[in-house]
Amino acid sequence: MTLSDLSIGESALVCKVGGNGELRQHFLDMGIIPGTVITKVKTAPMGDPIEYDVNGYELTMRLEDAGKIDVESVPAESPSTSSGTADTTKTAHPGLGEGGRFHTKDDEDPVPEGTTLTYALVGNQNSGKTTLFNQLTGSNQHVGNFPGVTVDRKDGVIRGYANTLVTDLPGIYSMSPYTSEELISRDFVLNEKPRGIINIVDATNIQRNLYLTMQLLELNIPMVIALNMMDEMTGNGGSVNVNKMEELLGVPVIPISASKNQGVDELIKHAVHVAYYQEKPLRQDFCDVNDSGGAVHRAIHAVIHLIHDHAEKAGIPVRFAASKLLEGDKRILYALDLDVNEKETLEHITLQMEKERGLDRSAAMADMRYAYIKNVCTQTVKKPHESKERIRSQKIDKLLTGKYTGIPIFIAIMGLVFFLTFNVIGAFFQGLLERGIDALTALVDTGLTTVNANPVLHSLIIDGIFAGVGGVLSFLPIIVTLFLFLSLLEDSGYIARVAFVMDTLLRKIGLSGRSIVPLLIGFGCTVPAVMSTRILPSERDRKMTILLTPFMSCTAKLPIYAFFTAAFFPGRGGLIMTGLYFLGIIIGILASLLYRKTLFKGEPVPFVMELPNYRLPSVKNTAQLLWEKAKDFLERAFTVIFIATIVIWFLQSFDLRLNYIHDSSKSILALIAGFLEPLFRPLGLGDWRICTSLISGVMAKESVVSTMEILFAGGITTALSAKAAASMLVFSLLYSPCIAAIASVKRELGARWALGLALWQCAIAWICALIVSLVL
Ligand code: GDP
Ligand code: MG
Repeated sequence: MTLSDLSIGESALVCKVGGNGELRQHFLDMGIIPGTVITKVKTAPMGDPIEYDVNGYELTMRLEDAGKIDVESVPAESPSTSSGTADTTKTAHPGLGEGGRFHTKDDEDPVPEGTTLTYALVGNQNSGKTTLFNQLTGSNQHVGNFPGVTVDRKDGVIRGYANTLVTDLPGIYSMSPYTSEELISRDFVLNEKPRGIINIVDATNIQRNLYLTMQLLELNIPMVIALNMMDEMTGNGGSVNVNKMEELLGVPVIPISASKNQGVDELIKHAVHVAYYQEKPLRQDFCDVNDSGGAVHRAIHAVIHLIHDHAEKAGIPVRFAASKLLEGDKRILYALDLDVNEKETLEHITLQMEKERGLDRSAAMADMRYAYIKNVCTQTVKKPHESKERIRSQKIDKLLTGKYTGIPIFIAIMGLVFFLTFNVIGAFFQGLLERGIDALTALVDTGLTTVNANPVLHSLIIDGIFAGVGGVLSFLPIIVTLFLFLSLLEDSGYIARVAFVMDTLLRKIGLSGRSIVPLLIGFGCTVPAVMSTRILPSERDRKMTILLTPFMSCTAKLPIYAFFTAAFFPGRGGLIMTGLYFLGIIIGILASLLYRKTLFKGEPVPFVMELPNYRLPSVKNTAQLLWEKAKDFLERAFTVIFIATIVIWFLQSFDLRLNYIHDSSKSILALIAGFLEPLFRPLGLGDWRICTSLISGVMAKESVVSTMEILFAGGITTALSAKAAASMLVFSLLYSPCIAAIASVKRELGARWALGLALWQCAIAWICALIVSLVL
């Protein structure tokens, strides 16, 4: 029997974890080891993926992957998964310095005065790292309730301690990196050698969180454990004997609540202390001589002796290197540069361990760590009863991921978000801002006239900068509003569910469920869509998603559709617009199938993801996020777009001899458009005015219509046939995204990808428009 055979509500005991490579390691790291009891919670509406309960947290995986895990029915006398009811009566927490447990005067070894105390903030996804980081630094990093929000690392100084630097790293479940972002975290800890580690542990999910802790302790770097979410833990009747836990783990453990800012000051004091005095963890040896015959213990110690000199030379903590080698970590093996004999000996030791232990290498190591963790938990943790938050989450999930309700509710929520953004809130502020910009433009305009400014300068300021930057700036409210809703959805935990619900569909085009969010935002505006791909856990998925967002017809193209349907196809506007949206989606699907076969071979990331409990988004975090997005957008508006506006204005206002002109048909732009004209002739669009409009559409899609209105002076129907209009519509739908979108692609993927994407979109648009003009 495998995990995929379970019916809902049924539990089973894991007996063998199949599969191979990183996915298998990931399963083991997540606590799916022989002996674990797993319960099937539910299936996504489309039958795949499936949600399981593993040691009290919710994990999703695809049916296919679940089929690789062999299980048997739970024996009547089931091994209890609860971690006991340890005596956790409160005693005073040991203090710092001489009175404390970790510091004696004799062996003190403070870092030289003036050294910057660097810290890595390491922990599982969703354990509250970013919340804590914000508390520590007073900074405004984005916090989300979606695994993988922190994608690049962020640094900040601990408030009140000028000589410190904390780095917030992407969440990891173990030191066996699973996604490219997890590799960032591991490499940071290994290569940049922080003075200290702040390991954040989610107290409500202590077993799995301590798994990473075990591996961090092996690094022999001064460390403190921040036991987070204590408010939730104690609020539900649980508690932890912190002093005992410190003794068993050999590092200070400080109970905190990052979101309530409780215990953070004490944490800072301990963190500064251990890093200043370089107090290494007192304990790194967690393999018990008596555990299952001591096979793992013997193997680890044998390997330590074997590789000691190599590890020292490579600058990798020896104990850590030994465990990783036994797990079969290729990167470490490569870094250690063992010779043939040593490699053989290593393999012999490993084989012997596997034989004696009756488990393969990865499983044996995972089992050893979890055995120690169980021991720690039994002695120190009083398990909370099923938390209010959890029960509430399950109730909400019945509806939001229900078989018949999941998808309709998702569509309804997204519909509401778009309606509110584009028709109500965003539109209101956009109107306001536009009026403001118009008023300012008028003011400056008259100002320039009264002071008799040079007409070229006048035109540059008014027709160039104000029109261009102003036009793009008026999108700010829409973007901020869209992000407000998305961050509320994300922070609450809903987006993780959306990924769960939509995974099956997206898999068909080679992506995973998580890509749904950027693609949806793409219907609003490509710029925030591209920005939001940061939440994707794999580089491959991220790139592919970015390349697909421009196919989702953005709202700035709506005026073009409206203009042409009104002029050429009156009465059939709704039909044609819907058709265009679907055409975009279909071409996007075709493109993704092509990408999958060429640029992005390989599989989308396996969908092994934690579903966090629903949480109320915090006002502070949301406000901070919005500020960040707005800042980001403004920065771009005043750099890339500012320059681009000036360039276009210049091309439009001067002829080749650099004479300032009033008739734009003689401008350099018209000249370029004239060159392009033959290219557009097969599409039935061989008119320099159309080419000019399309070029200006690269600035901002809205300006296609405004340019046409000027150049055709109202006579569009006489200049174009209905057939040409149709091919124009298709071309506008698909051709290069606007300069703002290209700039955000450049920011995420670099200039080559951005330029490539723009040209590629133009090619697709040209082919599709050609087909339209041939078929019609
Ligand atoms: P990260 O993925 O580790 O960076 O985690 P985040 O900082 O994004 O936090 C994940 C979620 O946990 C957010 O919804 C936070 O509001 C919430 N959270 C963080 N710390 C605490 C805490 O101490 N108590 C409670 N109840 N929630 C918290
Ligand atoms: Mg984070």
